[in-house]
Amino acid sequence: MKLRKSKHTITAKLQDSDSWYILNTLSGEADLLESEMAVQFQNNTLEDPTPFIEKGYFMDEETENSLFKNAYLEFSDNQEKAEIQVFYVPDYSCNFKCTYCYQEEYVQDSRPQNQKDIIDAFFTYLDQKFLGKSFYLTLFGGEPLLPSDSHRKTIEYFLDKADERNLSLAIVTNGFSLESYLPRLKKSKLREIQLTIDGPKDMHDIRRPLKSGGETFDKVSNAVSLCLENDIPVNLRVVLDKQNIDSLPQLADHAIRKGWTASSLFKTQLGRNYELHSCQKEHEFLFSRISMYEHIYKMLQEHPEVLEFHRPAFSLSRFLYEQGELPDTLFDSCPGAKTEWAFDYTGRIYSCTATVGKDGEELGEFYPEIKLNDQVIEQWQDRDICSIEECKDCSVQLACGGGCAAVAKNRTGSVLSPDCRPVKELMSLGFSSYFDK
Ligand code: SF4
Ligand code: SF4
Repeated sequence: MKLRKSKHTITAKLQDSDSWYILNTLSGEADLLESEMAVQFQNNTLEDPTPFIEKGYFMDEETENSLFKNAYLEFSDNQEKAEIQVFYVPDYSCNFKCTYCYQEEYVQDSRPQNQKDIIDAFFTYLDQKFLGKSFYLTLFGGEPLLPSDSHRKTIEYFLDKADERNLSLAIVTNGFSLESYLPRLKKSKLREIQLTIDGPKDMHDIRRPLKSGGETFDKVSNAVSLCLENDIPVNLRVVLDKQNIDSLPQLADHAIRKGWTASSLFKTQLGRNYELHSCQKEHEFLFSRISMYEHIYKMLQEHPEVLEFHRPAFSLSRFLYEQGELPDTLFDSCPGAKTEWAFDYTGRIYSCTATVGKDGEELGEFYPEIKLNDQVIEQWQDRDICSIEECKDCSVQLACGGGCAAVAKNRTGSVLSPDCRPVKELMSLGFSSYFDK
């Protein structure tokens, strides 16, 4: 059998270092190499290739195909059994006027004062279509925790219906009115509250002011503390672009001083501000994916304390560093219409949070009657690295998974197109941060 470099072997030089990394996403092996050895590997002039063969960096085609097939079956099996996240949008309006909000342009149907019938239809749909499946709910918006009485009644009704079914619930909120909702929320099975803070007070208040013009930082920061004091897990998101990225160390400092980072219930995610559907007003602030992580990489050299607040994934690097092994192969990184669905108060069904509320992206309706666009749903469900033409021969396919279908569709008009991730470059940064330094 003819051995050749495996299609799934990835090598690149570490950032600011002479060392290289080598890994194979199919065999699950990873190593650091001296530059001389890396060059010999690249040029196929290794004196003794045995260790490289043993680790699967060289593989014959037959073995590779068989490992690939088995991994694909296992992935499909796990995806089938995975817990599904079901979003419900009770309103697209919001009391904040964030400078980068992608939902701002959405034309909104006027929200019915009373959503009981719609919420009932939503739960009936779940009872039927999600029977026997493992899933949890997530309230999403706009802002799902608006302060008005009518809104509060809608949310309470929704929570009652979730509680009747013993369903667990996450909430994505701006956090401004969370304190007043907390007594009711605590009676439900809360699994996480996601809040967003975009930097220290001065920066956050510029980017995420109230529609009426007021500041919001103190209330949101207080909401984070309140959740943690009440044993509610917090997922704190920071949306980054060139305007606020350099203030990340100050936000990390705030989180450390508040004691948030010491809590096992506290986790963070960094979101990249990017053009999802329309031209951003402040286009010059936007980072490409790799330039944002290059910036963060440099920041970590000067401010390693930021790592206490957030450890960037840098593709597979953080997982390897923390778990001592590579993650499972990723045949599909987009959960849309598979392990994620989104429903809204107009009775429409969408693939996920990136498409929910966007005209033309509906996959069906659950109210007033159930109608599904099976053909489009199938396209979403068939999307993975084996069905996207460009991904089929890509060496980083099992680390990338084809990216986001919504972003791909915005770019090309088709969900069956790639949204490429700079996997090799991210790992050069990650291996350097976590293994070399
Ligand atoms: S389309 Fe994008 S945002 Fe939606 S589920 Fe897929 S990856 Fe996530
Ligand atoms: S989306 Fe791009 S980088 Fe990702 S697997 Fe497909 S071709 Fe490769």
